[in-house]
Amino acid sequence: MTLPSQVSHLIVGAGFSGVAAAIKLDAAGESDYLVIDRGYDVGGTWRDNTYPGAACDIPSQLYSYSFAPNPTWSNSYSPQPEIFDYLRGVARDAGILDRAVFHTEFEDAAWDETAQRWQVQTSRGPVRAEHLILAVGGLSEPKLPDIEGIDDFAGQVFHSARWDHSVDLTGKRVAVIGTGASAIQIIPELQEVVGHLDVYQRTAPWVIPRNDRAYTKVEHAVFERVPLVQKAYREGLYWGKEASLPLFTGSALISTPARKLALRNIRKGIADPELRRKVTPNFAIGCKRVLISNRYYPALASDNVELVTDRIDRITPTGVVTVDGAERPIDVLVVATGFFTTDLPVAHKVRGRGDVSLADLWSTTSMAAYKGTTIRGYPNLFQMVGPNVTLGHASMVEMIEAQATYVTDAIRTRRQRGLGPIEPQQSAQDAWNDDLQERMATSVWTTGGCASWYLDEHGRNTVLWPRSTFAFRQLLSTFDLDAYDVEPARTQEVTA
Ligand code: NAP
Repeated sequence: MTLPSQVSHLIVGAGFSGVAAAIKLDAAGESDYLVIDRGYDVGGTWRDNTYPGAACDIPSQLYSYSFAPNPTWSNSYSPQPEIFDYLRGVARDAGILDRAVFHTEFEDAAWDETAQRWQVQTSRGPVRAEHLILAVGGLSEPKLPDIEGIDDFAGQVFHSARWDHSVDLTGKRVAVIGTGASAIQIIPELQEVVGHLDVYQRTAPWVIPRNDRAYTKVEHAVFERVPLVQKAYREGLYWGKEASLPLFTGSALISTPARKLALRNIRKGIADPELRRKVTPNFAIGCKRVLISNRYYPALASDNVELVTDRIDRITPTGVVTVDGAERPIDVLVVATGFFTTDLPVAHKVRGRGDVSLADLWSTTSMAAYKGTTIRGYPNLFQMVGPNVTLGHASMVEMIEAQATYVTDAIRTRRQRGLGPIEPQQSAQDAWNDDLQERMATSVWTTGGCASWYLDEHGRNTVLWPRSTFAFRQLLSTFDLDAYDVEPARTQEVTA
């Protein structure tokens, strides 16, 4: 399929945020949009992460759009295939699939000062767009570990987010590198099928119990027939999550019981004192993402699993060698080593005023945007899940909806007032980020004594939102034109 030569709004990415942006634009009458995605379908992270055990660690009632409740979630925490199906259903019902082109790589975007448009190159050819909405996700580019010899490994090796389902793991010797959110879901599943599993842990995570359960027939019937009940249920969960924020902003009132809960989870799952010691974290709870699982510790304690805490020295064609010289032979290597987060590959592909790429701009400072969404020097660009929009305590869908509302209102405002391109004032952007960094300074993410994917090379947390989602929703509820510079439109016609 060839792409149209120009559109009003180009949305790059068809995950939760791209779909939300498209739906809100449509609802505002801004239907001249095109969605491109490199994948084969909508879904984003829920299309790509198909590893065994993949599920969301935010309750499904909350991890879904407020405008598209789903009464049929099977469980309180839904597995990946259900979330993927949900998103496909929402996109289909909203008519987005008719305006989405898949298998299309976003290659480059440059702001054309003369045309006041974004000139975008894709693997299917160029597109000119008045507004560019980057919705590529914050956790979409797998990060492979830089370990000597990994390219020479003779068996199969794959990242958690690129699971190779053609590999039969039954009875095999498998190693998993990493003990983050993905790994702790994968490990209990692998433990049940493989012959032997080595888990390479660099840092022990905090893991609290997962109170998952299947919804009953009665609950399903009530959700179906009395939507208000489901709405009230969602509200309850929402405020419960909001109430956990003080864990991260430094309140012992929550961190002490949370710590006890996690330590009890270790004692419950593991009998061996040495293994208990190895899995006990040495940093404050909340500093890294708090993980949830009832099955992780029992899996580690199983006879066919070894938790290896010695650092990896190198990988040979047949196994993993640790710094003590021990080599553990394996058939398959799974790297659950996370994603590029503060050094987003897409930042190299977007060039604003003066031909400066986002990557170049951010290499000297840190990732920064106004309201996590718009960026000085990048007119008419909107970044979904931009800097400091990710959450440590609640559902990202809340943040995504707030951003989609803001983007839509910005576009509607431009249109109604016949405005030229907009970009945030430097002073507004700086004030926004100064306030965020001030809040970060006392948060557990900074003071908790850990290294995490929230911190960039300058030690700044440019990933997380340090306040309530309620506050974010309020701050982004209407477009604040007075914080923006508006360039005179070069033509009478504002539309593309
Ligand atoms: P992650 O949290 O970044 O974990 C990566 C793991 O790999 C860490 O244990 C890390 O150790 C280890 N690692 C990285 N490089 C290594 C190296 N060179 N040698 C040895 N170990 C290495 O990545 P993730 O587990 O994929 O999760 C990323 C995020 O995705 C999560 O925090 C969460 O926001 C999201 N997620 C959510 C869910 C869910 O909802 N259930 C599931 C999966 C992912 P260190 O800790 O020492 O760095």
